[in-house]
Amino acid sequence: MYIERFVLRKPGIAVHGGAGEWSLDSEGEKRVSKRLREALEAGFSILVGGGSAIDAVTEAVSVLEDSGIFNAGSGSALNSAGYGELDAGVMYGPTMFSGAVAAVRVKNPVRLARAVMERTSHVILCCDGAETFAKVLGLGLEAFKPGEEQVRRYRDLISRIDGEGIPPYVRANREIMKRILETGIHGTVGAVAIDSEGRLAAATSTGGIWLKLPGRVGDTPIPGAGFYADREIACSATGVGEAIMTLSLCRSIALVSRFMGSVSSAITYSFEELENLPRFKGYAHAGVIVLTKNSDLYMAFNTKGMARGYISTDQGSPFTALNKL
Ligand code: ASP
Repeated sequence: MYIERFVLRKPGIAVHGGAGEWSLDSEGEKRVSKRLREALEAGFSILVGGGSAIDAVTEAVSVLEDSGIFNAGSGSALNSAGYGELDAGVMYGPTMFSGAVAAVRVKNPVRLARAVMERTSHVILCCDGAETFAKVLGLGLEAFKPGEEQVRRYRDLISRIDGEGIPPYVRANREIMKRILETGIHGTVGAVAIDSEGRLAAATSTGGIWLKLPGRVGDTPIPGAGFYADREIACSATGVGEAIMTLSLCRSIALVSRFMGSVSSAITYSFEELENLPRFKGYAHAGVIVLTKNSDLYMAFNTKGMARGYISTDQGSPFTALNKL
């Protein structure tokens, strides 16, 4: 596991665009960095204008959803039946209110997650019910439609369903995927922020994993798993959702930090536990961004890279990176 620490000055915001390979040519790297910067600038301008951390993370994540180059919003992975089912969650540290949506077909699930938090007494809405909720509120959220690149990638993966090319995290579904087909085709994003009042918030949004079974819900909309915020700490996670939710990775980091008094030890401990889960041995890939009330930022991953960046007060321009420094 690789870990970085940066000391920010509030207000500040950090984002990620998913943990994974991130071996791109220099043009590709520039494209990703540009999108990360745009998201950071959108969130940061809210913070410097006196806005709250929850507004900043919602805005930054929806900019990443709209970019089409991450596995979230417009760029979402397709399930084994060839359509997108998107997950997202948000949480506000001072009140510990959270809201999330699962398996929805809207382009900006993070905005819908925010509405669940603010306008219902529930934490998670899924599927048709979540979409009806959006309509009833007149949120005017656009429907998710896959782009050409996603359809191409889907066809390629599905054509190799019997071979070795199938990702390990869906291998056990091979037979059931085939039956579903007979009946009917890069990374999650997240943000953590601290506003000028010292309030923390977190948001995460994803298309999930490629070729997931229809109806599969990952860690992203589960509070404590794919996202978490309280008065002390905010966290957004990416990676193999089944492994992350088994351990409630973000909440595990928050709790272990509280008791050990060290965020980096908590991240190390939680990743060790994750990597030792027998069911996910060898592919418990994950990444996290963690921000504390003291504005200490930690970015950690056990993959080759993780698209990530941050900006805070007194910093001329955003920092972004894809690989280890
Ligand atoms: N955590 C997401 C999921 O399992 C996927 C990712 O982070 O790339 O749905």
